[in-house]
Amino acid sequence: MVKPGTPPPSGKPTVAPTTSPLASAMMAKRVPYKVSQEEAADYVKPSQLPDDAQSTVREQLRGLLGYLNVHHHGLKRGAKVYRFQQSTENYGQYDLGTGAITINEDVHQRATKFMSEPTNPKYRKHADDASTLIHETIHAMSPMQSKAYDGHGAFIEEATTEILARKVMRDKFQIPDEHWCDDDGTPSGSYGEEIHSLNQIVSSVLGQHAPIAHQDVYRLIEDAAAKMRQQSQVFDRKNRYVRHFANNLELPPHLFTGLDANAAAARRLQIVSDVSAEVERQHHDWQG
Ligand SMILES: [Zn+2]
Repeated sequence: MVKPGTPPPSGKPTVAPTTSPLASAMMAKRVPYKVSQEEAADYVKPSQLPDDAQSTVREQLRGLLGYLNVHHHGLKRGAKVYRFQQSTENYGQYDLGTGAITINEDVHQRATKFMSEPTNPKYRKHADDASTLIHETIHAMSPMQSKAYDGHGAFIEEATTEILARKVMRDKFQIPDEHWCDDDGTPSGSYGEEIHSLNQIVSSVLGQHAPIAHQDVYRLIEDAAAKMRQQSQVFDRKNRYVRHFANNLELPPHLFTGLDANAAAARRLQIVSDVSAEVERQHHDWQG
C-alpha cells in the first residue's frame, strides 16, 4: 500500500519504496492497536485533517474519480484522510483495516497545489505527488479485503491500482503515459516493474491464440483495472481476486475468429485460467 511520491526536498522523481507494501499495510494496522505510542512515534505520526478539510479532500477525490464509476467500497464508509506530521520513509499508505488514507504532509501539500492548478508549469513537477494521493484513494475503493492482500493478490492490487492512477493522471491532468515510462516505453516509476510484468503475462497468454499489439494489451488491462472495481462483490481470497481481474479482461473478438460459441467460451475460460495461473506462478511470493 506504499507508494512513493516525489521525495522531499530533492524533487527527484519516484524512488523505490523502502518498506514493503505488506509490511506497511501491517504497520498501518498495528499502530493503533499493538505498538506502543513511543514505538509508533518512531515511524509514523499521523494527524487527522480537520473535519472540513477531510470532507473537502474526500469530495474532491470522489468528484475526480467519479467518471471511473468505481464502487466506493472504502470511501463510502467515511474513511478518514490523515497526513503525516513529519516526513517519513513512506509517502502514502492505505490501511485495509480502517480504510484510513495516510499521506506524507509534504506530498499532500504538493498534490493539492498540483490538483488546484494542474496547468501551472510551476506545479507540474508535483504530478507524482498527486498520483500518490490518487493511488491511495483508489485502494480505499478496492473490493479486496485485507486477507487477500498477500503474494499474487497484493501484486494484482498494486499493479492495477497504479495503472488506474496513471489513467486518471492522463485523463484529468493530461500527464501522458510516457511520463511513467523509460525512453524505450517500458513502464517505470512506482510499481513500473509490476505493470511491465502484468503486460508481459497478458501479452504472452493472448499471443498464444492470435497476435496482439502491446499497446492494445495495456488498454485491456487498464479497462479491467476499472471494471473489476465497479462491482459490489468483495474478495477475501487472493486467488479469487486475481481471477476476478482476469475475468474482467474484455478479450478482443479476433481471438475467437472461426470458433463456434462453445469453442469460444472454452477459449475464454482457458485464457482466464492461464492468466490467473501465470500471475500466481510468477508472483506468489510477491512482497513489493
Ligand atoms: Zn499501493
